[in-house]
Amino acid sequence: MMVVMPLAVVTYAALVAYCALKAAGALELKQQDKILEESARSQHLVNQKESFYVERLRLENEVLEILTLYEITKEITQSLGEKEAFGIFQSKLSDHVSFTECLLVHPLCDEINDYKKSMEYFLFALQGKAGKIGYLVVKGISQEHHEKFTILGHQFALALRRIKLYHEIERIAVTDSLTELHTRRYTTERFQEELKRSQARGMKLSFLMIDVDHFKTFNDQYGHLMGDQILREAGKLIQESTREIDIAGRFGGEEFCVILPDTDRAGARYAAERIRQAVEASSIKAYDAEVKITVSLGVATYPEDGAQIEGLIDKADWALYRAKREGRNRICSFGIYD
Ligand code: GH3
Ligand code: MG
Ligand code: MG
Repeated sequence: MMVVMPLAVVTYAALVAYCALKAAGALELKQQDKILEESARSQHLVNQKESFYVERLRLENEVLEILTLYEITKEITQSLGEKEAFGIFQSKLSDHVSFTECLLVHPLCDEINDYKKSMEYFLFALQGKAGKIGYLVVKGISQEHHEKFTILGHQFALALRRIKLYHEIERIAVTDSLTELHTRRYTTERFQEELKRSQARGMKLSFLMIDVDHFKTFNDQYGHLMGDQILREAGKLIQESTREIDIAGRFGGEEFCVILPDTDRAGARYAAERIRQAVEASSIKAYDAEVKITVSLGVATYPEDGAQIEGLIDKADWALYRAKREGRNRICSFGIYD
């Protein structure tokens, strides 16, 4: 038996089917969009992961470089000598940079302009507080290593500044600010060392105590500024009249002293006479005035006058006292009559 469906039902069914198909199509499109979106997101995450990886590698390298730099700086700055610090710098440099030669050059060195003009050399100026303290001159370094060399150069400059500062402080600590001679404390320390050395080697050693004659009258007549200038000049004359190995110091006020290693009584008198004559021959100019001064000197010698520095200083002082009593501008050696 045939069932005849009315036209309206067929049309309705077709319409429903059409709508269902369209909805399914739209859903599929939406899902495709979503899939595309998700895959773009996952691609983005993959890219991000890769760039994180690259960044991590870069940071790891940077940390490594900083650590290396820290290690180098630590090693260079541990040294208190210029030569030693430069040696460490050179060896560390060769671990990280390839070059054929590296020099530490004084800023006033004659060849510096030749180095500057030559294409063979790469220069790094080492800056101190008051200007250039030197140049690092490197030969055979490739362009790509210039930056690394510059970074290491900065570290070396810091180390060099520290070394120079250390030596300057050390110098100031042992130098009398007025006369630029050694301080009494440093001179006494050196006296102790030199005496030990003389005892160990069976050598003689002499000590001079020097005092400016009638110094008080210069102070009274010309004022303390002139007095200070006289002390400066006297210190200079004493220093200039002694040997490299002698140690000249300001003992206090207008008194100076000189330690004469490996010198017997006769040698000490000779050295003392040279100082006395140099002072006597000089004229000291300051503040529109010109004065002439003299000094008296007392000599004590190890071992005949004592084996301890206190005793030797005392005896030189006694001899000086006698030189004053006998008329000044003269030398006396310690003797039993003191
Ligand atoms: P003499 O020949 O016996 O040594 O006589 P003098 O006048 O040199 O000795 P005195 O010890 O009587 O005087 C030393 C003077 O040195 C007294 C002190 O005021 C002065 N004096 C000490 N230190 C300084 C200084 O740093 N600068 C100045 N201008 N004077 C000083
Ligand atoms: Mg005196
Ligand atoms: Mg005096």
